[in-house]
Amino acid sequence: MFESLSDRLGKIFSGITGRGALSEADVQAALREVRRALIEADVSLEVVRAFTEQVGQRAVGAEVTRSVKPGQQVIKIVHDELVAVLGEEAVPISLNAPAPVPILMVGLQGSGKTTTTGKIAKRLKDKQNKKVLLASLDTRRPAAMEQLQTLGGQIGVDVLAIVPGQSAVEIARRALSTARTGGYDVVMLDTAGRTHIDEELMAETAEIKRVSNPHEILLVADSLTGQDAVNLARSFDSRVDITGIVLTRVDGDGRGGAALSMRAATGKPIKLIGVGEKMDALEDFHPKRIADRILG
Ligand code: GDP
Repeated sequence: MFESLSDRLGKIFSGITGRGALSEADVQAALREVRRALIEADVSLEVVRAFTEQVGQRAVGAEVTRSVKPGQQVIKIVHDELVAVLGEEAVPISLNAPAPVPILMVGLQGSGKTTTTGKIAKRLKDKQNKKVLLASLDTRRPAAMEQLQTLGGQIGVDVLAIVPGQSAVEIARRALSTARTGGYDVVMLDTAGRTHIDEELMAETAEIKRVSNPHEILLVADSLTGQDAVNLARSFDSRVDITGIVLTRVDGDGRGGAALSMRAATGKPIKLIGVGEKMDALEDFHPKRIADRILG
């Protein structure tokens, strides 16, 4: 695999010990390695540039104490900045609104949206004792609607009945009224995905938002999304003003750079991570762990 940033910086600084502060030249050499490590971790170039500039400003003149090697000092600065950009604390899903609380799930096809919808529903039911209603708005893919029905059956959560011929907006309205009359605490709307961002998808998602007035709009994104992560997050955020991000496939071999890219591009918190295909493979997001992983 990749050589860790710690090993690389160790080499750069191997000849330097016992100096009072990091010099501009030391920092520039270190930043080249930081930049490489971030690019290998799939952080988008735009975010890499902004981030390393920030780290550089903090690092020049930073005191190097005798007990800490300069390489470790730089790693600590990079790590602290990563955690600061990723967000210090895990931000839970908010249900702080009148019931039924609408949660809108958005994202590209194949990102893990339906699976994540099931995982969140199961968590709300098991851990918070909430009565949840699920609805699939993917009118173009009957298989996606059936997938949600099956998932609901597996986790013991109700799924809105499929009525052929209804538009996504009509289904959203029906889900809300069913949730209201049925005494549900939460109604989760699983929107249609596309293989890429297009205007039709964005317009439909915006319209569903308008009629359902969601309390949370969660963008589900594959953690292996590389350079496209910024574009993806910005497109959804500028159009529907997402409230948070769920990163999936964090159990894969990726280094998680998409987390940094998407957080930096939108300022929106990463709320949860998917760590497997099973319905309980959902965890809170811990910035420190992702920072460690990005640094390798
Ligand atoms: P959608 O098209 O966005 O609704 O995607 P799906 O929910 O159908 O997921 C696509 C595939 O990714 C399925 O095979 C899921 O089991 C898998 N998947 C979803 N989330 C995760 C995850 O966190 N880790 C792993 N390993 N697989 C996942």
